[in-house]
Amino acid sequence: MTDGDPGVAIEGMSATFDGVTALEDVSLTIDEGEFFTLVGPSGCGKTTMLRTIAGLTDGTDGSVAIGGRDVTDSQPEERNVGMVFQNYALFPHMSVRENVAYGLRFHDHSRGKADRVAELLDLVDLTGAADRSPEQLSGGQQQRIALARALAPEPDVLLLDEPLSALDAKLRKRLRVQIQTIQRELDITTVYVTHDQAEALALSDRVAVMQNGRIEQVAAPETVYRDPASRFVAAFVGDNNLFDGVVGDDGSSVAVAGVELPLPAGAEAAAGESVTMAVRPEAITLGDGAERAQSADAALTATIETVEFLGDAYRVHCRWQDRQIECKTTAVDSPTGEVTLRFDAADAQIV
Ligand code: ATP
Repeated sequence: MTDGDPGVAIEGMSATFDGVTALEDVSLTIDEGEFFTLVGPSGCGKTTMLRTIAGLTDGTDGSVAIGGRDVTDSQPEERNVGMVFQNYALFPHMSVRENVAYGLRFHDHSRGKADRVAELLDLVDLTGAADRSPEQLSGGQQQRIALARALAPEPDVLLLDEPLSALDAKLRKRLRVQIQTIQRELDITTVYVTHDQAEALALSDRVAVMQNGRIEQVAAPETVYRDPASRFVAAFVGDNNLFDGVVGDDGSSVAVAGVELPLPAGAEAAAGESVTMAVRPEAITLGDGAERAQSADAALTATIETVEFLGDAYRVHCRWQDRQIECKTTAVDSPTGEVTLRFDAADAQIV
Protein backbone atom coordinates (compact mmCIF):
# COMPACT_ATOMS: atom_id res chain seq x y z
CA MET A 1 0.00 0.00 0.00
CA THR A 2 1.30 3.47 -0.83
CA ASP A 3 0.16 6.79 0.58
CA GLY A 4 -2.83 8.20 -1.26
CA ASP A 5 -4.26 4.87 -2.38
CA PRO A 6 -7.90 4.44 -1.40
CA GLY A 7 -8.69 1.85 1.27
CA VAL A 8 -11.04 0.08 -1.13
CA ALA A 9 -11.86 0.84 -4.78
CA ILE A 10 -14.69 -0.97 -6.55
CA GLU A 11 -15.17 -0.46 -10.27
CA GLY A 12 -18.17 -1.44 -12.37
CA MET A 13 -19.32 -4.22 -10.04
CA SER A 14 -22.31 -6.29 -11.14
CA ALA A 15 -23.66 -9.50 -9.64
CA THR A 16 -26.54 -11.68 -10.79
CA PHE A 17 -27.85 -14.80 -9.07
CA ASP A 18 -30.32 -17.04 -10.92
CA GLY A 19 -31.54 -14.10 -12.96
CA VAL A 20 -31.81 -11.80 -9.88
CA THR A 21 -29.65 -8.69 -10.15
CA ALA A 22 -27.97 -8.12 -6.77
CA LEU A 23 -25.55 -5.39 -7.93
CA GLU A 24 -25.77 -3.31 -11.07
CA ASP A 25 -22.59 -1.62 -12.27
CA VAL A 26 -21.61 -0.19 -8.88
CA SER A 27 -18.44 1.90 -8.50
CA LEU A 28 -17.27 3.13 -5.13
CA THR A 29 -14.12 4.49 -3.52
CA ILE A 30 -13.61 4.18 0.24
CA ASP A 31 -10.86 6.24 1.80
CA GLU A 32 -8.02 4.79 3.83
CA GLY A 33 -9.06 4.78 7.50
CA GLU A 34 -12.65 5.68 6.71
CA PHE A 35 -15.70 4.28 8.51
CA PHE A 36 -17.97 3.63 5.56
CA THR A 37 -21.49 2.21 5.81
CA LEU A 38 -23.69 0.49 3.23
CA VAL A 39 -27.31 1.00 4.21
CA GLY A 40 -30.57 0.10 2.52
CA PRO A 41 -33.63 -2.12 2.75
CA SER A 42 -33.49 -5.92 2.72
CA GLY A 43 -32.34 -7.37 -0.59
CA CYS A 44 -30.78 -4.15 -1.95
CA GLY A 45 -27.34 -5.77 -2.36
CA LYS A 46 -25.44 -4.66 0.77
CA THR A 47 -24.18 -8.09 1.78
CA THR A 48 -23.30 -8.96 -1.82
CA MET A 49 -21.21 -5.80 -1.98
CA LEU A 50 -19.39 -6.68 1.25
CA ARG A 51 -18.79 -10.26 0.14
CA THR A 52 -17.45 -8.96 -3.15
CA ILE A 53 -14.76 -7.04 -1.24
CA ALA A 54 -13.95 -10.18 0.77
CA GLY A 55 -13.81 -12.35 -2.36
CA LEU A 56 -16.65 -14.58 -1.14
CA THR A 57 -19.00 -14.09 -4.09
CA ASP A 58 -18.72 -15.93 -7.39
CA GLY A 59 -20.27 -14.73 -10.60
CA THR A 60 -19.43 -11.06 -10.25
CA ASP A 61 -18.24 -8.74 -12.95
CA GLY A 62 -16.01 -5.75 -12.10
CA SER A 63 -12.85 -5.08 -10.13
CA VAL A 64 -11.84 -4.64 -6.49
CA ALA A 65 -8.64 -3.04 -5.22
CA ILE A 66 -7.57 -2.90 -1.57
CA GLY A 67 -4.96 -0.29 -0.67
CA GLY A 68 -4.12 0.14 -4.36
CA ARG A 69 -3.62 -3.63 -4.87
CA ASP A 70 -5.92 -5.27 -7.43
CA VAL A 71 -7.46 -8.27 -5.63
CA THR A 72 -10.18 -9.10 -8.16
CA ASP A 73 -8.70 -12.53 -8.83
CA SER A 74 -7.29 -13.15 -5.33
CA GLN A 75 -8.63 -15.78 -2.94
CA PRO A 76 -10.33 -14.48 0.25
CA GLU A 77 -7.33 -15.41 2.46
CA GLU A 78 -4.98 -13.47 0.16
CA ARG A 79 -6.95 -10.24 0.48
CA ASN A 80 -6.09 -9.45 4.10
CA VAL A 81 -9.61 -8.53 5.18
CA GLY A 82 -11.24 -9.24 8.54
CA MET A 83 -14.94 -10.06 8.64
CA VAL A 84 -17.55 -10.00 11.41
CA PHE A 85 -20.99 -11.54 10.88
CA GLN A 86 -24.36 -11.05 12.53
CA ASN A 87 -24.33 -14.54 14.11
CA TYR A 88 -20.78 -14.22 15.63
CA ALA A 89 -19.70 -17.58 14.09
CA LEU A 90 -17.57 -18.49 17.13
CA PHE A 91 -16.35 -22.01 17.97
CA PRO A 92 -18.23 -23.18 21.09
CA HIS A 93 -15.63 -25.86 21.99
CA MET A 94 -12.82 -23.26 22.12
CA SER A 95 -12.18 -20.72 24.86
CA VAL A 96 -12.44 -16.99 24.19
CA ARG A 97 -8.62 -16.86 23.94
CA GLU A 98 -8.54 -19.77 21.45
CA ASN A 99 -11.26 -18.19 19.33
CA VAL A 100 -9.24 -14.98 19.05
CA ALA A 101 -6.03 -16.95 18.35
CA TYR A 102 -7.87 -18.67 15.50
CA GLY A 103 -7.77 -15.33 13.70
CA LEU A 104 -3.98 -15.72 13.56
CA ARG A 105 -3.98 -19.19 11.98
CA PHE A 106 -2.50 -17.95 8.67
CA HIS A 107 -0.36 -15.40 10.38
CA ASP A 108 3.31 -15.49 11.17
CA HIS A 109 3.16 -12.93 13.93
CA SER A 110 6.55 -11.56 14.89
CA ARG A 111 5.68 -10.64 18.50
CA GLY A 112 4.27 -14.07 19.27
CA LYS A 113 0.70 -15.20 19.20
CA ALA A 114 0.04 -15.09 22.94
CA ASP A 115 1.03 -11.42 23.21
CA ARG A 116 -1.08 -10.47 20.24
CA VAL A 117 -4.13 -12.32 21.60
CA ALA A 118 -3.68 -10.64 25.01
CA GLU A 119 -3.47 -7.24 23.30
CA LEU A 120 -6.71 -7.89 21.40
CA LEU A 121 -8.57 -9.14 24.45
CA ASP A 122 -7.55 -5.94 26.18
CA LEU A 123 -8.73 -3.90 23.18
CA VAL A 124 -12.23 -5.40 23.36
CA ASP A 125 -12.20 -5.38 27.17
CA LEU A 126 -12.46 -9.16 27.62
CA THR A 127 -9.18 -9.97 29.36
CA GLY A 128 -11.01 -11.33 32.39
CA ALA A 129 -13.05 -13.75 30.24
CA ALA A 130 -10.12 -15.23 28.27
CA ASP A 131 -10.52 -18.79 29.56
CA ARG A 132 -14.29 -18.97 29.45
CA SER A 133 -16.37 -20.56 26.72
CA PRO A 134 -18.14 -18.09 24.38
CA GLU A 135 -21.44 -19.74 25.28
CA GLN A 136 -21.08 -18.48 28.86
CA LEU A 137 -20.98 -14.88 27.63
CA SER A 138 -23.60 -12.35 26.55
CA GLY A 139 -24.36 -11.59 22.91
CA GLY A 140 -22.47 -8.32 23.13
CA GLN A 141 -19.40 -10.03 24.60
CA GLN A 142 -19.56 -12.73 21.93
CA GLN A 143 -19.60 -10.10 19.22
CA ARG A 144 -16.54 -8.45 20.79
CA ILE A 145 -14.73 -11.82 20.57
CA ALA A 146 -15.65 -12.01 16.88
CA LEU A 147 -14.35 -8.46 16.42
CA ALA A 148 -11.05 -9.30 18.17
CA ARG A 149 -10.67 -12.42 16.01
CA ALA A 150 -11.26 -10.43 12.82
CA LEU A 151 -8.75 -7.77 13.90
CA ALA A 152 -6.10 -10.28 15.03
CA PRO A 153 -4.15 -10.56 11.75
CA GLU A 154 -4.08 -6.75 11.34
CA PRO A 155 -6.30 -6.71 8.24
CA ASP A 156 -6.15 -3.85 5.76
CA VAL A 157 -9.94 -3.67 5.80
CA LEU A 158 -12.51 -4.59 8.44
CA LEU A 159 -15.87 -5.80 7.05
CA LEU A 160 -18.87 -5.90 9.39
CA ASP A 161 -22.15 -7.48 8.22
CA GLU A 162 -25.04 -6.42 10.47
CA PRO A 163 -22.91 -7.12 13.56
CA LEU A 164 -25.42 -5.70 16.04
CA SER A 165 -28.70 -7.10 14.65
CA ALA A 166 -28.93 -9.97 17.12
CA LEU A 167 -28.56 -7.69 20.17
CA ASP A 168 -31.17 -5.78 22.14
CA ALA A 169 -31.51 -2.02 21.63
CA LYS A 170 -29.50 -0.89 24.69
CA LEU A 171 -26.63 -3.27 24.01
CA ARG A 172 -26.64 -2.30 20.35
CA LYS A 173 -26.06 1.33 21.28
CA ARG A 174 -23.28 0.48 23.71
CA LEU A 175 -21.47 -1.81 21.32
CA ARG A 176 -21.70 0.64 18.46
CA VAL A 177 -19.83 3.19 20.56
CA GLN A 178 -17.19 0.54 21.32
CA ILE A 179 -16.85 -0.37 17.63
CA GLN A 180 -16.49 3.29 16.74
CA THR A 181 -13.86 3.84 19.44
CA ILE A 182 -11.82 0.80 18.36
CA GLN A 183 -12.06 1.80 14.69
CA ARG A 184 -10.74 5.29 15.50
CA GLU A 185 -7.98 3.91 17.70
CA LEU A 186 -6.75 1.50 15.01
CA ASP A 187 -7.52 3.87 12.13
CA ILE A 188 -8.58 0.87 10.07
CA THR A 189 -10.61 1.15 6.84
CA THR A 190 -14.02 -0.21 7.80
CA VAL A 191 -17.02 -1.18 5.71
CA TYR A 192 -20.17 -1.71 7.73
CA VAL A 193 -23.48 -3.15 6.49
CA THR A 194 -26.77 -2.35 8.17
CA HIS A 195 -30.44 -1.94 7.28
CA ASP A 196 -30.76 0.45 10.24
CA GLN A 197 -30.46 4.00 8.96
CA ALA A 198 -30.07 5.46 12.47
CA GLU A 199 -27.07 3.18 13.08
CA ALA A 200 -25.58 4.25 9.74
CA LEU A 201 -25.93 7.94 10.59
CA ALA A 202 -24.51 7.47 14.08
CA LEU A 203 -21.41 5.50 13.13
CA SER A 204 -20.11 6.58 9.77
CA ASP A 205 -17.76 9.06 8.16
CA ARG A 206 -19.71 8.45 4.95
CA VAL A 207 -22.78 6.45 4.04
CA ALA A 208 -23.86 4.81 0.76
CA VAL A 209 -27.63 4.46 0.54
CA MET A 210 -28.51 1.50 -1.69
CA GLN A 211 -31.66 0.40 -3.47
CA ASN A 212 -32.18 -2.41 -5.99
CA GLY A 213 -28.49 -3.15 -6.47
CA ARG A 214 -27.55 0.47 -7.04
CA ILE A 215 -26.18 3.32 -4.96
CA GLU A 216 -28.59 6.23 -4.64
CA GLN A 217 -26.29 8.57 -2.71
CA VAL A 218 -22.83 8.55 -1.14
CA ALA A 219 -22.21 11.35 1.36
CA ALA A 220 -21.54 12.29 4.97
CA PRO A 221 -24.44 11.42 7.32
CA GLU A 222 -25.39 15.09 7.72
CA THR A 223 -25.63 15.55 3.95
CA VAL A 224 -27.67 12.41 3.42
CA TYR A 225 -30.09 13.60 6.12
CA ARG A 226 -30.28 17.29 5.22
CA ASP A 227 -29.90 17.10 1.46
CA PRO A 228 -31.18 13.71 0.24
CA ALA A 229 -30.37 13.05 -3.42
CA SER A 230 -33.62 11.28 -4.23
CA ARG A 231 -37.13 10.64 -3.05
CA PHE A 232 -36.03 7.18 -1.94
CA VAL A 233 -33.20 8.55 0.25
CA ALA A 234 -35.51 11.21 1.71
CA ALA A 235 -38.02 8.53 2.71
CA PHE A 236 -35.52 5.89 3.88
CA VAL A 237 -33.18 8.01 6.00
CA GLY A 238 -34.94 9.41 9.06
CA ASP A 239 -38.60 10.39 9.17
CA ASN A 240 -39.90 12.68 6.47
CA ASN A 241 -43.08 14.18 5.05
CA LEU A 242 -43.23 14.03 1.26
CA PHE A 243 -45.51 16.41 -0.60
CA ASP A 244 -46.13 15.89 -4.31
CA GLY A 245 -47.12 19.08 -6.09
CA VAL A 246 -46.68 21.39 -9.06
CA VAL A 247 -44.46 24.50 -9.12
CA GLY A 248 -46.56 27.66 -9.44
CA ASP A 249 -46.30 30.19 -12.31
CA ASP A 250 -44.03 32.55 -10.36
CA GLY A 251 -41.61 29.69 -9.57
CA SER A 252 -41.61 30.42 -5.82
CA SER A 253 -44.29 28.07 -4.55
CA VAL A 254 -45.56 24.54 -4.92
CA ALA A 255 -49.27 23.81 -5.16
CA VAL A 256 -50.03 20.74 -3.04
CA ALA A 257 -53.66 19.63 -3.01
CA GLY A 258 -54.85 23.19 -3.62
CA VAL A 259 -52.55 24.87 -1.07
CA GLU A 260 -49.52 26.99 -2.05
CA LEU A 261 -46.47 25.94 -0.07
CA PRO A 262 -43.18 27.86 -0.25
CA LEU A 263 -40.55 26.46 -2.64
CA PRO A 264 -37.06 26.14 -1.12
CA ALA A 265 -34.69 28.84 -2.38
CA GLY A 266 -32.25 27.55 -4.97
CA ALA A 267 -34.47 24.61 -5.92
CA GLU A 268 -33.99 23.79 -9.56
CA ALA A 269 -37.62 23.47 -10.52
CA ALA A 270 -39.40 25.28 -13.36
CA ALA A 271 -42.94 26.66 -13.32
CA GLY A 272 -45.42 23.88 -14.07
CA GLU A 273 -43.00 21.10 -13.12
CA SER A 274 -44.18 18.22 -10.91
CA VAL A 275 -41.97 17.95 -7.85
CA THR A 276 -41.76 16.23 -4.47
CA MET A 277 -40.98 18.38 -1.48
CA ALA A 278 -39.54 16.76 1.66
CA VAL A 279 -40.11 18.36 5.07
CA ARG A 280 -38.66 16.78 8.22
CA PRO A 281 -41.03 16.43 11.23
CA GLU A 282 -38.79 18.70 13.33
CA ALA A 283 -38.98 21.47 10.68
CA ILE A 284 -42.74 21.87 11.18
CA THR A 285 -44.12 24.18 13.84
CA LEU A 286 -47.58 23.74 15.28
CA GLY A 287 -49.84 26.70 15.93
CA ASP A 288 -53.43 27.06 17.05
CA GLY A 289 -56.41 28.36 15.11
CA ALA A 290 -56.09 31.92 16.46
CA GLU A 291 -52.60 32.23 15.06
CA ARG A 292 -53.85 31.09 11.69
CA ALA A 293 -56.43 33.90 11.60
CA GLN A 294 -53.76 36.56 12.20
CA SER A 295 -51.22 35.29 9.73
CA ALA A 296 -51.15 35.64 5.97
CA ASP A 297 -48.46 32.94 5.61
CA ALA A 298 -49.19 29.68 3.91
CA ALA A 299 -50.17 27.14 6.51
CA LEU A 300 -51.85 23.78 6.49
CA THR A 301 -54.89 23.40 8.68
CA ALA A 302 -54.72 19.89 10.09
CA THR A 303 -56.24 17.77 12.83
CA ILE A 304 -54.19 16.07 15.52
CA GLU A 305 -54.77 12.30 15.46
CA THR A 306 -52.29 10.96 17.99
CA VAL A 307 -49.47 12.28 20.14
CA GLU A 308 -46.55 10.07 21.18
CA PHE A 309 -44.31 11.03 24.09
CA LEU A 310 -40.67 10.33 23.17
CA GLY A 311 -39.00 11.53 26.38
CA ASP A 312 -37.16 14.50 24.92
CA ALA A 313 -39.96 15.48 22.50
CA TYR A 314 -43.43 14.63 21.22
CA ARG A 315 -44.24 13.06 17.89
CA VAL A 316 -47.55 14.45 16.65
CA HIS A 317 -49.43 12.63 13.90
CA CYS A 318 -51.78 14.97 12.09
CA ARG A 319 -54.28 14.46 9.31
CA TRP A 320 -54.39 16.99 6.52
CA GLN A 321 -56.93 16.25 3.80
CA ASP A 322 -56.37 12.58 2.96
CA ARG A 323 -52.80 12.33 4.24
CA GLN A 324 -50.80 11.95 7.42
CA ILE A 325 -48.26 14.57 8.44
CA GLU A 326 -45.75 13.82 11.16
CA CYS A 327 -44.37 16.63 13.34
CA LYS A 328 -41.82 16.59 16.16
CA THR A 329 -42.05 19.22 18.83
CA THR A 330 -41.03 19.82 22.43
CA ALA A 331 -44.45 21.05 23.59
CA VAL A 332 -48.04 20.20 22.67
CA ASP A 333 -50.89 22.44 23.89
CA SER A 334 -53.66 19.94 23.29
CA PRO A 335 -53.60 16.26 22.34
CA THR A 336 -56.57 16.70 19.98
CA GLY A 337 -58.20 19.33 17.79
CA GLU A 338 -57.28 21.61 14.94
CA VAL A 339 -53.74 22.96 14.42
CA THR A 340 -51.90 24.96 11.82
CA LEU A 341 -48.69 23.49 10.45
CA ARG A 342 -45.96 25.78 9.11
CA PHE A 343 -42.41 25.35 7.94
CA ASP A 344 -39.66 27.57 6.65
CA ALA A 345 -38.89 26.95 2.97
CA ALA A 346 -35.19 26.87 3.87
CA ASP A 347 -35.82 23.67 5.85
CA ALA A 348 -37.51 21.84 2.97
CA GLN A 349 -35.87 20.01 0.07
CA ILE A 350 -36.99 19.18 -3.44
CA VAL A 351 -36.14 15.49 -3.97
P1 ATP B 1 -30.44 -8.25 3.73
O1 ATP B 1 -30.43 -6.97 4.50
O2 ATP B 1 -31.78 -8.92 3.70
O3 ATP B 1 -29.33 -9.18 4.07
P2 ATP B 1 -28.96 -7.28 1.41
O4 ATP B 1 -29.17 -5.85 1.08
O5 ATP B 1 -27.73 -7.63 2.15
O6 ATP B 1 -30.22 -7.83 2.17
P3 ATP B 1 -28.11 -9.23 -0.53
O7 ATP B 1 -28.00 -10.32 0.48
O8 ATP B 1 -26.88 -8.65 -1.06
O9 ATP B 1 -29.03 -8.06 0.03
O10 ATP B 1 -29.01 -9.77 -1.72
C1 ATP B 1 -29.32 -9.01 -2.88
C2 ATP B 1 -30.21 -9.86 -3.79
O11 ATP B 1 -29.46 -10.95 -4.34
C3 ATP B 1 -31.40 -10.48 -3.09
O12 ATP B 1 -32.49 -10.49 -3.99
C4 ATP B 1 -30.93 -11.89 -2.78
O13 ATP B 1 -32.02 -12.77 -2.71
C5 ATP B 1 -30.03 -12.19 -3.97
N1 ATP B 1 -28.93 -13.10 -3.63
C6 ATP B 1 -27.84 -12.77 -2.87
N2 ATP B 1 -26.99 -13.82 -2.77
C7 ATP B 1 -27.54 -14.84 -3.48
C8 ATP B 1 -27.17 -16.20 -3.79
N3 ATP B 1 -26.02 -16.70 -3.33
N4 ATP B 1 -28.01 -16.92 -4.54
C9 ATP B 1 -29.17 -16.44 -5.02
N5 ATP B 1 -29.58 -15.15 -4.78
C10 ATP B 1 -28.80 -14.37 -4.03
